Amino acid sequence: MSDSSLEAIQQLNQSAWELRYANWQESLQSSQQALELASAEGNELQRGYALRTLGFIERVQSNLPKAMSRLTEALEIAKNHGDLVLERDCLNFLAATYATSGNMQSALDYTQSALQISQQIEDLPGQVSNLNNLGIIYYELNRLSEAESVYLQAIESASLIQDQRRVAEARANLALVYVKLERYEDAVSCSRSALQLAEELKLQELATRVQVNLAEALAYTDHFLEALALLRSAEKIFVEHGVFEGVVHCRLNLGLIFLRQHQLSQAIASLNSGLALCQSHGMKELEAQLHQRISQAYEDDQNFELALKHHKAFHTVEREVRRLDTERQLNAISAQRELDRARAEADLERMRRVELGHLVNQLEWQAISDPLTGLHNRRFLETQLEKSFFEAKQASKPLSVAMLDIDSFKQVNDTYGHAIGDEVLKIMAKLAKDSLRTGDIAARYGGEEFALVVHAGFEHAMRACERLRVLVEKHPWSEVHPSLSVTITVGVCADTSLENHEKMLNYADEKLYVGKRSGKNQVCG
Ligand code: GH3
Ligand code: MG
Ligand code: MG
Repeated sequence: MSDSSLEAIQQLNQSAWELRYANWQESLQSSQQALELASAEGNELQRGYALRTLGFIERVQSNLPKAMSRLTEALEIAKNHGDLVLERDCLNFLAATYATSGNMQSALDYTQSALQISQQIEDLPGQVSNLNNLGIIYYELNRLSEAESVYLQAIESASLIQDQRRVAEARANLALVYVKLERYEDAVSCSRSALQLAEELKLQELATRVQVNLAEALAYTDHFLEALALLRSAEKIFVEHGVFEGVVHCRLNLGLIFLRQHQLSQAIASLNSGLALCQSHGMKELEAQLHQRISQAYEDDQNFELALKHHKAFHTVEREVRRLDTERQLNAISAQRELDRARAEADLERMRRVELGHLVNQLEWQAISDPLTGLHNRRFLETQLEKSFFEAKQASKPLSVAMLDIDSFKQVNDTYGHAIGDEVLKIMAKLAKDSLRTGDIAARYGGEEFALVVHAGFEHAMRACERLRVLVEKHPWSEVHPSLSVTITVGVCADTSLENHEKMLNYADEKLYVGKRSGKNQVCG
């Protein structure tokens, strides 16, 4: 790949990454281009970067299955290339994708892996962000003591690197954990310090959120006045910024405080205004909560008719929420299944390709070998011999061919059976092969006939064949069958002045028959 095309892909990937928040359409376009180019150039790592950005965008666009498959592919590439930063990005985005789809367990697994990498590469800001995410997940999973512990770690690490914003965020989140644990005093002090920090840092959104949480914790510890003041101030800010969910939270909490103080008409007014907002903005979960509280308020007020009406509405909306939740989870599960299926298919495809490779090798080997003895076959021997003959002629190098036939083999079969005959052939093949130097060839030429190509002259070939003849004769054949004995007759040709390699084979064959006619078990040249 040329430097300039690599540079072009890198640039596309980088600008796509930088634009992912500011202009996702442009980011999408650049990363798609980068993906195409990197694929065409076979640059896996750059493909990984492009897939990471694409996965990020798909997630933001709520295309969760697509996000999962992009990010999973990028994650695998990152692992293959040992690119830890890319790997961690993918793990983080996958965690976020799974969290959005309601699969908190997978979100947890991916975030834990991301944290391990942040620790490995000693990236403290990264660790803080991973710890905060872990806290959110543990909180959702109701694993509160673990949530507390990771938030405390996050606060400590963020303090170390003097990232006050992260300290404030972690404290705010920790306060929520304390509320759930009913440790209201801790929740109050934690929220107070988060609020103070957020105000110092002018993080208005965070400060307002913390105000609501602080108010909730204060209400539990019966500090109603301060709680009311905080909620009213927060509500005002949320209204100004059009943060409807925040407004509803404030009205809900205000309602709860009035309820506790038996100021029923104020409670109902506050809760009803929250309800109206929920209904106009489709916030189903909060709507259910509000119906429930309003029903409770009417009940306290002895207005059973309206209490019943809101009680029924609470159940209807809650069923709807659960249905939506189930639907979302089912979608996530089917996305996961789809991804698993795609991966299984890819694995299968890989296996098929490997198997095909094996098959090709196997077929190639079958074409040149003899299945019984594992030696090369006649076809292979002849092509190799043809080459060697040509080389020998060109370079005036010596070359010999030997034809070798087992003596009275028919009798071996007839006396001991075909299986023993096969065994003899196998041993014979091994003896022939082992007697050769590398580069020389032994082949099964036909039934009980073998041929040798020896890259040496007549004397050497004769000696080698004689050694083999003796080796065969002396072999402990009785191990195969008690009364078995085997000998061979060999014909040798070392005449490279002949017209072609076939003539050499014919000549060796003639010599073999000379040997057969004159008593067998001998080498003739
Ligand atoms: P000679 O000493 O003259 O070579 O006699 P021979 O009996 O060895 O020769 P002949 O050509 O009469 O018989 C060869 C026998 O080899 C016949 C055939 O059944 C046997 N044979 C050929 N291929 C195989 C095989 O793969 N396995 C077994 N067991 N026998 C085989
Ligand atoms: Mg024969
Ligand atoms: Mg024979």
